[in-house]
Parts: sequence; structure tokens; C-alpha cells
Amino acid sequence: MKILLIIADGLGDRPFDSLGGKTSLEAADKPNLNTLAREGMIGLMDPIRPGIIPGSDTSHLNYLGYDPFKYYTGRGPFEAMGTGLTLRGGDIAFRANFATVNEQGTIIDRRAGRIREGTSELAKQLNLKIEGVEILFKEGTEHRAALVLRGEGISTEVTDNDPHADNLKPKDIVPTSEKGKKTAHILNEFYKQSFRILKDAPLNVKRRSNGIKEANAILYRGGGEVPSLPNFNEKYSLDGGFIAGVALVSGICKLVGLKNFTPEGVTGSIDTDVKKKFAAAVEALKEVDFVLVNVKGTDIAGHDGNGVAKKEFIEKIDAALKDTVMKVRNEIVVCFTGDHSTPASAKEHTSDPVPILLRYPGCRKDGVGEFDEIRAKDGYLRLQGSDLMNVLLSSANRAEKYGA
Ligand code: ZN
Ligand code: ZN
Repeated sequence: MKILLIIADGLGDRPFDSLGGKTSLEAADKPNLNTLAREGMIGLMDPIRPGIIPGSDTSHLNYLGYDPFKYYTGRGPFEAMGTGLTLRGGDIAFRANFATVNEQGTIIDRRAGRIREGTSELAKQLNLKIEGVEILFKEGTEHRAALVLRGEGISTEVTDNDPHADNLKPKDIVPTSEKGKKTAHILNEFYKQSFRILKDAPLNVKRRSNGIKEANAILYRGGGEVPSLPNFNEKYSLDGGFIAGVALVSGICKLVGLKNFTPEGVTGSIDTDVKKKFAAAVEALKEVDFVLVNVKGTDIAGHDGNGVAKKEFIEKIDAALKDTVMKVRNEIVVCFTGDHSTPASAKEHTSDPVPILLRYPGCRKDGVGEFDEIRAKDGYLRLQGSDLMNVLLSSANRAEKYGA
């Protein structure tokens, strides 16, 4: 059988006051998820380990069977790949932001007014070469971007220039060891050169004259070396694909060799077309054996502290299942879960285990007909994220016996 893994980013929740003390998943009207629960089994999963607060990257890696404690080298490399840059092992990648600084060089907006348009034009001009080291710069969504260094003698052993707050100046990059000296120098030099380039960029000249915040500075952080990961398809003897609107997740999927089936026009935002994603997943399963779909809106609403929006996004997911996944559910393994909890009450990721739902033809039914964090305790499943691929493969009759 083929496998569909749907990850509602940040799905896990805690009781929320404006939802009458329910979690967003409990409060949501979700007939299709409840049907899947009734026809299958539910439970709880620690995305990484109990008490470990997962990032989206570390948990996605773990779910796909790549121990993050072994392979995770910082968020930079993963996000950089998600922008569409093709990276090589040994490249050093940073997460970057377009930001606005004033004439004194003080940051007045770390996100350049959440700039949405024209960043690709700016980014193109920032592909530079400094002291023999190639600099790849690529825009991401909104103000986000990736900064990658490629060349001899580069290192991650440097500090960030991002002070993580407005009304401060970007920090000087300093090496944290002898190894980081050259890289620190290059990054400080890049800040200066990029500042000069961005100041005169037509887009910024225009924004300046319209009184809109300019994207005139680059902040970077979280440098990591691009790791080499064993190919997913070889590891599991499967052809795998993915659908994800958000760069971080697509970066990971590309890195492990999953094929990109993300349709045009879907995003990693709360207003994304979830149904289009699920329809594309059903279509992709005709070609490949495994498809991971990430929908990001649950995490965004959670970070915004908006439990109502999170509940509504879950309802949107549920409605999108109706004419897509529900129609093929008797032919495939369906797993629905989150990569971590992002409770609206916490506005951040927490280590709370995530609810998980597993349904395949002929599976055991645990008799729990509603899918949420609280009912999950009555279900069968007790997993850690590192078990997930094994469980999916054996559910799909694709696992080999361990022993005689
Ligand atoms: Zn996430
Ligand atoms: Zn998040």
C-alpha cells in the first residue's frame, strides 16, 4: 500500500480560554478527521523525546528517520534549501532577513515592513564573491532569505549579526574560535557591501520616496554546515514525494531526496489552498509510494496566540479532506499528525506530545471516534517520532520481519 502522511504544523494545543477551555482541535468541527479516527486508531506521539521542544526541522527529520541529534546542523542549511538554492555538503548557510535600518544604522524593523514583493530583485544583486568565497543569496517568503557561503576555509564558528530586536544596531560578527576568523571577516564585509548595494536598489529608492520602510540591511543568524543525508528512497526502497508551502519543510524534503509535488499557488500561510494540496497529494500517490504533506496554518495561528484562527484552520483542513483523501482512504495508509505542539496559549512550540491518527484498510480500531489531544489518551498509539516511518511502513505491508 501507499502512504500519505499529513503533518499539520504545530497541531498540538493546550486548553484555551476563548475556546471555553478546549484545545483548538477539540473545539473544531471536524467530521472527516473524526471519521478517520473512528475507522482507525489515535494516540499521542512525542515528536522527538518527552520534554524536548521540537523545531519543525528537527521533528520532520526525525519523522523521516533521520536522527536530528546526529544530522541536524542548524536551521540555516534547511531553510536555504527551501528557497530553491541547490546546496552542496560543506556549504555554510545562514537564515537571513531583509530589515530596515535608519540613518544611524539602528534597526527600526527587523522584517522590513514584512516586505512581500521585489525581494528577488534585491537578492539577485547580493550574489557576491568576497576573498574567494562565493556568496549565494536567495529570497524566501516575505522578509526571509538565505545566505550561503561556499569556498575554502569557511566555518560556522561565528556569532550572528541579528540582535533579535528592533531599536538596536546589527551586531559585529565575531569568531568563536580561530577557525571562524575568515568567515567572520567575510560576513562583516558582506554586511557593508550589501548595505551599499541595497541603498541604491531601485526598489528601495521607490520605497523611500513613498515613505515605505526600505529593505536596506541584511540580518543573519544560525549558520550551519550543510549535512549529507542518506537518500530517503534508497533507505526505505520507496519512491517518496512531498507537498509543502513553507521553505523550511520543503528544504528538508529536498535534502533527503523526496520529489516535489507542491502545486503552483499554494503557500505556507493561513490562507493557503489546503484542498489543492490534498488533491495534489492524491494525484502524486499515483506516481510515488509515499507523500508527505505539510500544512503550516496551524502553527502560524498558534504563534499568533489565536486559538480561534487555529480552530478555523483545522476546520479548513477537515473540509479539504472530504473530496480528496476521504475518497481514497480505502486504498492507502493515512496518517495525520503534527510535527510539534504550538499552543495558542503559549504562542511558541512546546514539548507536549502531539495527537496522531492512523488509518488503513483492515487496521485495528480503538473505538475512539473523536480526534483530539484529550481523547488521544484513550487510543492505542504511543509513539516517538523516530518510530513513525517504521509504523507507516509496516502498516503499508512494506516492512521486513525482524527475526525468524
Ligand atoms: Zn513546525
Ligand atoms: Zn512554529
